[in-house]
Amino acid sequence: MSVSGASPAVGLFCAPRSPPRLPRFRMAVRSSAISVAPILTDLKHQCATPLPVLRHVADAMAADMRAGLAVDGGSDLKMILSYVDSLPTGNEKGLFYALDLGGTNFRVLRVQLGGKQERVIATEFDQVSIPQELMFGNSEDLFDFIASGLAKFAQTEGGKFHLPAGRKREIGFTFSFPVRQTSIDSGILIKWTKGFAVSGTAGRDVVACLNEAMERQGLDMRVSALVNDTVGTLAGARYWDDNVMVAVILGTGTNACYVERTDTIAKLQGHVSSSGRTIINTEWGAFSNGLPLTVFDRDMDVASINPGEQIFEKTISGMYLGEIVRRVLLKIAEAGAFGDSIPEKLSTPFVLRTPYLSAMQQDYSDDLKAVGSILYDIAGVESNLSARKIVVEVCDTIVKRGGRLAGAGIVGILQKMEEDSQGLIFGKRTVVAMDGGLYEHYPQYRRYLQDAVTELLGFEISKNVIIEHSKDGSGIGAALLAAANSKYEHDF
Ligand code: ADP
Ligand code: MG
Repeated sequence: MSVSGASPAVGLFCAPRSPPRLPRFRMAVRSSAISVAPILTDLKHQCATPLPVLRHVADAMAADMRAGLAVDGGSDLKMILSYVDSLPTGNEKGLFYALDLGGTNFRVLRVQLGGKQERVIATEFDQVSIPQELMFGNSEDLFDFIASGLAKFAQTEGGKFHLPAGRKREIGFTFSFPVRQTSIDSGILIKWTKGFAVSGTAGRDVVACLNEAMERQGLDMRVSALVNDTVGTLAGARYWDDNVMVAVILGTGTNACYVERTDTIAKLQGHVSSSGRTIINTEWGAFSNGLPLTVFDRDMDVASINPGEQIFEKTISGMYLGEIVRRVLLKIAEAGAFGDSIPEKLSTPFVLRTPYLSAMQQDYSDDLKAVGSILYDIAGVESNLSARKIVVEVCDTIVKRGGRLAGAGIVGILQKMEEDSQGLIFGKRTVVAMDGGLYEHYPQYRRYLQDAVTELLGFEISKNVIIEHSKDGSGIGAALLAAANSKYEHDF
């Protein structure tokens, strides 16, 4: 422990201590070498994820999954039924659309499926970023925006795609917010997450919201499957590989789903699956048990639009990593790390986005030039080499914790599955399909995640567990699920 008097380990739900108010610019009273070091030491200490911490998180994840399967509301994890009981086989045929609303972007896709031999004959997609004001607006405006984007995309359908006469175009709708699914093609929004605060959608069927907006646009298409993005990713990856059992998203937010045996789901009443299996959407972003958290996490949570909620998501996902680092940097700026003044930009929440952390960690130059430019351009911070090194260390500390905890969560899911089907997970090749911008673009994060999985499982078992990037599999996956749940006759 340091003797600096800097914050001790503070859990997320401890009573906040009010920090002394600081003027915007102030003289550094101590040299940075003296005052910054203990802040860093404390941070690393509080963010540490040694094996016992990882093991606790994995065990708690497995226990929370069980509690959530026993009874609705039984745990932080909602363990939502997906109503997806049959996974893609490769035999799917025809033209299908997919629409993905999940965070920063909304995507549309169409695919012509040709069955086992021809597989994906043609595919096209488009992507539109969601205007900030729609994230805080009303439900109608948001769904009108989506339906009009879909209408524009549908107009560009060319000769590579074929729909039999008399059929409507069918859509797999990927909606990656917590939904209480009531059938494969309907579901009630429980609440918005990831910074969305749209009024008028919570408590409503999101498929009905989309259908109404499509009607307003004069667009004659129908939603055949409502799919969480994790479920879409699992379906998309499974189309190519029968060993895929789990899918995890690490993007703006985070979530995971997996293939569950229906006989282990106590809360499953009346719902029968002919395959004896179904996909469970864990909504693991809400997990909170035993996480190593700091005062920076707690302050960010208190200031968030959903305080006390989505704690795992706030610790490991892309929306938040940059903001945690910014809060640490503000604290070390106050200790004089960047000279006498505290740049105003650094006080702006969410200016330091996670892609900048990744860019800084890929700077291998001697003078950390890229780190210096990012700090200056984004946060208004002037830095010398030693300050830049400290910043990279802060990024690494927060990203290491995030990646390792994500890895522990994955092991928790696998552990739960293995307990119910001895040998069927760890005793054979099992694939975890990964997707999301954070996983895709942050090599250090990916490495830390894999390290934690290997540490937890041991060398031998971890050889059977393949963690594989399944890029944009969720779009095709949603289209495949639309095919499997088509209202028209099919022979696949
Ligand atoms: P979404 O989760 O919004 O559906 P993505 O899966 O594309 O979309 O993830 C986008 C998120 O991924 C961003 O919000 C950001 O946090 C993270 N991200 C994107 N690019 C990078 C990058 N270069 N380095 C680190 N993180 C990134
Ligand atoms: Mg997404």
